[in-house]
Amino acid sequence: MLKVENLKVNYGHVSAVKDISFKIDKGEIVSILGANGAGKTSTLFGTMGIVKSTSKINFQGEDLSKASTEEKVKKGLVLAPEDRRVFPQLSVEENLKLGSFARGNEKENFEKVYDLFPVLKERKRQQAGSLSGGEQQMLAVGRALMSSPEILMLDEPSLGLAPLITDEIFDVLVQLKETGVGILLVEQNALRSLKISDRAYILEIGRIAIQGDAKDLLNDESVKKAYLGI
Ligand code: ATP
Repeated sequence: MLKVENLKVNYGHVSAVKDISFKIDKGEIVSILGANGAGKTSTLFGTMGIVKSTSKINFQGEDLSKASTEEKVKKGLVLAPEDRRVFPQLSVEENLKLGSFARGNEKENFEKVYDLFPVLKERKRQQAGSLSGGEQQMLAVGRALMSSPEILMLDEPSLGLAPLITDEIFDVLVQLKETGVGILLVEQNALRSLKISDRAYILEIGRIAIQGDAKDLLNDESVKKAYLGI
């Protein structure tokens, strides 16, 4: 469904992504793992065209290599960024509304998001800035869902969250996968994300070091030692 080939991202002389190719199918959860600075965020930003990059991008048979970020969002490639970027002065509902400009039926999308995250419905009139960290993360994911993504990319959704809240968000990702959304999950928390993933790519300094089925990686002794801390 989404195929990205030979992705390269440079920041001046720093080569953050040297040459990465990956794919993600409908209804799949794919993790991108790796240490700090391995190039995970740059991979997402390069794919979306938020930073300057080169690559060959094919989405549902269409060549999007030259497409702008906005065009990609309109086609259904949507990113929920790491720093959450909710608008603190606006209500939960207004924040969600901002996500709905690109695609789909707004009313249905509101229902879908409130169904997945009931707490956002309870707090729909509350200022986003007064939500807890976990609720803000739910709002960031909810806002991405307001664009009816075919492929949802998430940058560190578990960052700074308590394990139970992370579970709640990961459960929602599994539910989305079951509706056919393809999910590309960038995570530091390798163990937890592999547990809900179908496949994973492990990055090391801008390249893919290891890739495979999540189940195999979870059972691989060297992966366990080097990346999973077990
Ligand atoms: P983290 O988990 O710490 O977010 P990451 O795997 O997402 O790391 P990136 O943020 O993609 O890694 O960074 C990859 C490399 O690119 C790092 O060496 C980083 O210092 C560098 N880098 C990232 N953004 C910029 C920038 N705007 N200007 C210069 N160098 C950058």
